[in-house]
Amino acid sequence: MQHSVLQCNTGEALLAELIAVPSVNPRESALPAETPLAEFVADYCRHLGMTARLDEVTDGRCNVVATLPGRRTDECVLLETHLDTVETEGMTVAPFTAQVRDGRLYGRGACDAKGPLAAFLSALARIAASGHPPERTVVLVGAIDEEHRYQGVTHLLAREAGGSAAHEGGSRIGPRPVGAVVGEPTSLCLVVAHKGVMRCRIAATGPGGHSSLPQGRVNPVETLAEVVGYLRDEVAPRLAARHEPLVGAPTLVVTQISGGSGPNVLPERCEVTIDRRTVGGEEPEQVWRALKDELEGRFSGPVEVAEPHVVDYALPAQDDGAAADFTARVGRALAAHGLDPVGVGVGHGTDASKICRTGIPSVVFGPGSMTEAHTPGEFLDLAQLEAATDVLTTLLADGTAGAAREDRG
Ligand SMILES: [Zn+2]
Repeated sequence: MQHSVLQCNTGEALLAELIAVPSVNPRESALPAETPLAEFVADYCRHLGMTARLDEVTDGRCNVVATLPGRRTDECVLLETHLDTVETEGMTVAPFTAQVRDGRLYGRGACDAKGPLAAFLSALARIAASGHPPERTVVLVGAIDEEHRYQGVTHLLAREAGGSAAHEGGSRIGPRPVGAVVGEPTSLCLVVAHKGVMRCRIAATGPGGHSSLPQGRVNPVETLAEVVGYLRDEVAPRLAARHEPLVGAPTLVVTQISGGSGPNVLPERCEVTIDRRTVGGEEPEQVWRALKDELEGRFSGPVEVAEPHVVDYALPAQDDGAAADFTARVGRALAAHGLDPVGVGVGHGTDASKICRTGIPSVVFGPGSMTEAHTPGEFLDLAQLEAATDVLTTLLADGTAGAAREDRG
């Protein structure tokens, strides 16, 4: 084996090993990019006495699912994070050779999301070493493709729909989760809600022709200028007037524009891409349909709002009984280590929204700052890795938390 799990007796050493196994999302290429990391995680978990298996999603790309039996085995706490990272082009630090300076560990994925993965694994290592089984079974999932098309979490949950694993082959998770902690950098905050997103393209078209003869011809660049102005002056302010307590108002921005074929040719087509951030209760498909109905037919030239090419769901605040219980349990684990137990909302998406839609209460928690994610100098504050490991150990061990803490070291 290329990377040894035996060298990982601190969170820092473990994170360095996770970074040394590249897992850059291959986007549309058919490469098994995350599988070596899935194998490393499975090895690490087996070394702790857990069972672990790889679950192929597509093109040899595998999720890893590892289980630590608890005193109760009919229910589990799900720890889910993603194995993939974004690209490394333009990085100002070595992407796959971790460097530690001033309490920070640098490398691709240090905070998004190998830091949270290291916290999950370190907490499991402490509990396994304590000799006291966790209160409930713990299932750790490292999923592929969170940075692109969410194929890993979608595959994981395909048999969970409707709140029961009634499909042939049974649940891919195992015991029914009482709740999920999704590992992403949250600066040790308890994230209980986040926005979703709908992205689509809006195109205007015209007949084209010689640019010296524009009279009477629709110019799609001018049509889209009207559209962009309308989105900015009418649609965006209407969204901004909405109040959402945890995540703020939904937003709409134009993020890309292209059009025209030459300096002396009347354009035949102009296109913009919009990024519409949704809040809990907004379904992306309905948001798109309403925008299409509002825009098409309103302007001086033909406009078409294409089907969304990216859809992700919002994580709504979950305040029913079971979800409130689970969130409160995570909050108590944070409070036990001097951290703020009050749930907050963020603007970006995570796998938590997909997990929550199958009826599993879901929160997002992890070491590291989102402002460091995807950056050329990505790093993790190692003190946060230690703190996150403490919180997770307390959460999972529950009644045996004290023993688990005493026995480590
Ligand atoms: Zn992430």
